[in-house]
Order: sequence, then C-alpha cells, then structure tokens
Amino acid sequence: MRYVFGPVPSRRLGLSLGIDVIPFKTCSFDCIYCQLGRTTCKTIQRMSFASPEEVVANLKLVLPRVKASYVTLSGSGEPTLSLDLDRLVREIKELTPIPVAVLTNSSLLCRPEVRTALLDADLVVPSLDAASQEVFERTNRPHPELRIDDIIDGIRAFSSDFHGKLWIEVMLVKGVNDDEAELARISSVLRGIRAEKIQLNTVERPPAEPYVRPLSGEEMQRARCHFDERAEVIPAPRDRQARTGNALDEGGDMKAKYAQILGLLERRPCTLADVANGLGLNMNEASKLLGMLLSLGLIRADSSTGGKAYFHRSRGD
Ligand code: SF4
Repeated sequence: MRYVFGPVPSRRLGLSLGIDVIPFKTCSFDCIYCQLGRTTCKTIQRMSFASPEEVVANLKLVLPRVKASYVTLSGSGEPTLSLDLDRLVREIKELTPIPVAVLTNSSLLCRPEVRTALLDADLVVPSLDAASQEVFERTNRPHPELRIDDIIDGIRAFSSDFHGKLWIEVMLVKGVNDDEAELARISSVLRGIRAEKIQLNTVERPPAEPYVRPLSGEEMQRARCHFDERAEVIPAPRDRQARTGNALDEGGDMKAKYAQILGLLERRPCTLADVANGLGLNMNEASKLLGMLLSLGLIRADSSTGGKAYFHRSRGD
C-alpha cells in the first residue's frame, strides 16, 4: 500500500501532500456524492490499518523531493477511523514544518478520544452537510448507529478545545440538502461553533450515484446568503483556472502524471480504479487528477453504462 501521494492540487489547500492510511473504501458514511464511489466497508470501529513506522518512513523518502502547502490526512475513507491518528499527526509534525491538515466527515467527533487525537493538527476540516437526521441519512447514508445531533455536539465540543485552524465544509447537492429549511438549520447550528471559515462546496467530480447534481454558481451564492460572514463559496474549477492559471503548467511529477492519464485514456476508456491501478496511483490522487482534467475539458466522464468511465476527448466511444 502506498501511504503518501501527490502533492495534488487541492481546491482549498493549495498543493496538498496526501497521507492515506485507510483501506479503500472504508468509511462511516456512504455519501451519495462521494468521488470514490460507494462505500464497501461501512464501519464506526476504529482500527490500526497501517504501521505508523512504515507511513513515516514513506513520508521521509518523499518530503525532500516535494513542495507542499499542507501534509493532509485524507484519502480512501474516513481518517479518524485510524487508531494511529494522534501518533501520525505528532510524528509528521516532528518531521516537517509543513502544516498538517486532517479532513474528516465529523462522524466520530462525539468521542473524546477522537477529539484528543486531532488536537495537534494545524488545520482540521470537519464536514457537516445536514442538521436534521432525515437529510443526513439521505445525503451521507451513515452507519446506522450515527445520529446527527451527536455529531453536531462533537463538532461543537471540538471547536472549543482545539486551538488550530478550523474550517467547516458543507457539501451541497441539488434537491437533496439545499432547501431553505435545511440551509437555515445548518446555518443556525454553525452560528454556535467557533470556526474561521464555512466553506460551501458542490459536486464537482463524478459522484457515487448518477442522480446527484451540483448547484449552479447562482444557486451557491443564494445558499451563501443563509450563512454568516464566515461563509465562502469554493470556486468552480473553471473560475479557479482563470484565477490561478493552468494546473497542467505545474512542473515535474504532476505534469508527467497528467500526461500519463491522458495517454492511457487515449488508448481506451478507463474507470477510476483502472487509472489508479494502471498508473500505480492512490485512488484519491487519481480522482483529483481526473477531476482537474475534467474541469479543463480534456476528458469526459460517462456513467450511462453502469460503471463510471473516463474518456479522452479525442475518442468518440
Ligand atoms: S465523501 Fe468522504 S465521508 Fe463521504 S463516503 Fe466518501 S470518503 Fe466517506
């Protein structure tokens, strides 16, 4: 298993060097919008999935060769399911001055030991896509023992103990969790939580379920009006391209990876797993790179044949 991937361009973190210690796809949720597909192991049991020594050894090899704005624990499932989280955060911080971020779906923040495990991180990004149990179940398809009220209490408790940066992500899906009543509920919950930013996001990469649709730019701005001044809309890929330049101009490794993916898709259409396995990439990394190529219009995605496939634009299949 490769534990370190990237750096990959991240919508929120700049260049993110990913650490993935969770087996694909082990998660407490099965979000309808998940870019990695459906959850195959839905669990709330924390475990030791990877040897921390091996993860740190992997990172030591990679760090001298890369520039990154964050080392980010995320990946192929929910990182707080790892029992080694606190040790990993601590040891990564001893290795490098690059800030450590953890992206979490918040599901286990109601457990004091999980909150403690995150205290040494520089940035934690918990997500909250619903404030009512019904919308929570529809959007995140959680493990049956999870209750949104406990999760909200967990985020609230973490926000008062944690001294690093806290950004809350709200992923909006058209017609699923974007009605006025639910937005008002989420916003009311977040008003009582100490967070620097509330990041409103919508579906960008091919989702787990074909019926999932993004909100338009206008709808996102309307949704933002429900929240206080901390809320920002994460720009759509094309807007980001206009602001930051063409990601394919990034140097070295990443440019080569984009070229390899395009070369592969020129020969035949591929699923996410085909691309990851074919090029020896982490699934999350492959998904992010495919997302960038999609946003640039160089490839297209099609779910009409059941499994999701990516095609090179030059192919007419
Ligand atoms: S989006 Fe994140 S929390 Fe949701 S199923 Fe995928 S990995 Fe799990």
